[in-house]
Amino acid sequence: MANKQANITVLQGDYIGPEIMKAGLAVLKAVSSEGFNYQLNFAPFGGEAIDQFGAPLPDSTLDAASSADAILLAAVGGPKWDDNPERPENGLLQLRKKLNLFANIRPTEITADAMKYSPLKIYQPVDFVIVRELTSGIYFGKPRELANDGAFDTMRYTRSEIERVAKIAFDMAVQRRQHVTLVDKSNVLATSKLWEKVFHEVARGYPNVEVDRLYVDAAAMKLISVPNQFDVILTENLFGDILSDEAAEITGSLGTIPSMSKGAGGPVLYEPIHGSAPDIAGKGIADPLSMIRCVAMMLKYSFNRSDLSQQILDSVDAVASQGINTPDRGGDSSTQQVTNKIIDRLQKNT
Ligand code: ATP
Ligand code: MG
Repeated sequence: MANKQANITVLQGDYIGPEIMKAGLAVLKAVSSEGFNYQLNFAPFGGEAIDQFGAPLPDSTLDAASSADAILLAAVGGPKWDDNPERPENGLLQLRKKLNLFANIRPTEITADAMKYSPLKIYQPVDFVIVRELTSGIYFGKPRELANDGAFDTMRYTRSEIERVAKIAFDMAVQRRQHVTLVDKSNVLATSKLWEKVFHEVARGYPNVEVDRLYVDAAAMKLISVPNQFDVILTENLFGDILSDEAAEITGSLGTIPSMSKGAGGPVLYEPIHGSAPDIAGKGIADPLSMIRCVAMMLKYSFNRSDLSQQILDSVDAVASQGINTPDRGGDSSTQQVTNKIIDRLQKNT
């Protein structure tokens, strides 16, 4: 990818969306002086698209997203569209479905400096990722029924749905510390028994990757007691939904966490895990780190530029440890001040 021009579609979103996107793109521009050649393609999405086109995912935006190498998305939605029959958030659901983004990947990182924000009393850095199956399982399984005196849902998985997301987890482990933990409930659930079986089959293709597995209840405890023991956690949709919020909470700062969603090939979507934060929009104090870390993730995983990615992460850590932080992390700096410091630091190192 080094010489080919990277085609990045930008969905700025609503409320603090454009504020943090601006920060992320400024950092991207600063590191790209190291020979990263890219082109940005801005497209309306979410509330912004409802205002312009009457729908959260216009065809032109879907085309721009489908043909991109990577998509950067900030956050969509907010009170402005509360009474609108079109929901900004539906744009995201439609986009995930159209691009078949079946794996959601969230890193949890607590660097030495960031430990003070963590509610945990841990004295070692934490660095793991959760790979969550995103498009199947009990949230989508049929039949389902709600009656007065009873209700049921269906948890259903096919072998291929498990296989494809397991491969993503193993590929991720290969680029990290070669360890995957499957989280399931195979002492009780049939779907979990299939997960376990397919997991071990996929593992045979990755002889250098160490594997283990945990029941989801034990995993929930271990995320608190020994979070530094994990590298890649692979799990199904419902368990992943719960565990990934728990994992976000142990970092103590919602405004710093990126995520990526991917399918089999095709563009990868990078977005912060938080919402559009209407309460702080327009004040210039949104924490830009989640979006800046999305840019770092994108450089590493979509464009094979771990070097640039690491430069960004190092600069982010250096600036945070100088105490230059937005209010959500106890500081009094603005979005722009934090971003400018990160860029200064990047330019000093290059
Ligand atoms: P959604 O339903 O879209 O997930 P939410 O109701 O969970 O939204 P968020 O928008 O994620 O809410 O915000 C939750 C809280 O965290 C708010 O008080 C918001 O201001 C704060 N917050 C979220 N992102 C940031 C950020 N980047 N910087 C600072 N504060 C943030
Ligand atoms: Mg939320």
